[in-house]
Amino acid sequence: MRCLFCKQDSSNSKSVEHIIPESLGNTTSILPKGVICDKCNNYFARKVEQPFMESIDILTLRFREAIPNKRGLVPPINGFSYGGIPVKVYNPLPGIPFFARKEKIIAIDAEHTDITKILQHGRIITPAFVDDMVPPNTKTISRFVGKVAFESLAQRLSEHDGGLDYLIDESSYDPIRNYVRFGNTENWPCNIRRIYDMDKVWQDEMGMQHQMIHESDFLLIPVDEKSDLLKDDPVLVYPYFVFALFGLEFVIYMAGPDSDALELYKLWLQKHGNVSPLYYGKNESKER
Ligand SMILES: [Zn+2]
Repeated sequence: MRCLFCKQDSSNSKSVEHIIPESLGNTTSILPKGVICDKCNNYFARKVEQPFMESIDILTLRFREAIPNKRGLVPPINGFSYGGIPVKVYNPLPGIPFFARKEKIIAIDAEHTDITKILQHGRIITPAFVDDMVPPNTKTISRFVGKVAFESLAQRLSEHDGGLDYLIDESSYDPIRNYVRFGNTENWPCNIRRIYDMDKVWQDEMGMQHQMIHESDFLLIPVDEKSDLLKDDPVLVYPYFVFALFGLEFVIYMAGPDSDALELYKLWLQKHGNVSPLYYGKNESKER
C-alpha cells in the first residue's frame, strides 16, 4: 500500500484516518489503515485539524453547540470576568446546545476566589455568539477543507478497483495533495458563507429532531457553464468540494488555487437561486 499524500509505502501503518475529526462527532467517514500513512496522519492531527478546531470561530461554535470531543467533553472557551480577570468558561453538558437550555453561562473554573459572586452577577465576557458569524478566509481553514475534500474523493474512488492508485499517481491532484500536506501554496482561498442558522433543528420523517453537524458533497461545473474566466484551462469539468459545518458552507476548488474558480462558483450560485449544492435539486429533509 502507498500513502495518498506522501506516496510512500504505508503497508505497516497502524492508524485509520478520520476524514472529519472525531471531535466533530464523526464516527463513520473513515479511511482504513494504510490509505494515509501514520506519519501523515499524525501531521494532519497536529498541523491541520488542531489549528482549525482551536481557531476562535470554530472553538466558539463547538462550545455553543456543545459538541463533545473524543473524551466526551466540550472544550472551554476563554472569557474575562468583570475587571478583566481571565477565566475559562466550561459547558458541562455535552450534546445540549446553548439555545436549548435556560441557563446561559454554565460553569467557571478559575483560581479567582470570587468567581461565584461574579457569576451570580452575570459579569462574564466571552466571544460573542453571532448568528451570521462567518470566519475569515484563512490558510488554516482552506487546508482543513482541502484535506476533507481530498480524503472524501479517496473514499469515493476506493469503491472502484484501482481507484486509490489512480488518485496517488494522477499528477493533476498534486497541487491540492501538497497544499494539504505541506502548506506550500500561499493563497488557496475557500468561499465561505452561511446557508442556514447554526441552531437549526431538522426533523426527519419519523418526527425525530436533530441538528446537522456536518455534511458534504462534490460539485462539478461543466465547461459550458463557464464564463471566460478559465478559458485556457484544458478540463471538462471544474471540480469543487462543498463542506458545511452547522450551516457554515465552505467551498474549495480542487484543481488549483485559482481565485477565479471561486468567481465561477458564485456565478453557479447566481444561476441556481443561491441554493447550496448540498441542497440544490434535492429533498430539503434529506438525511445524512
Ligand atoms: Zn504519508
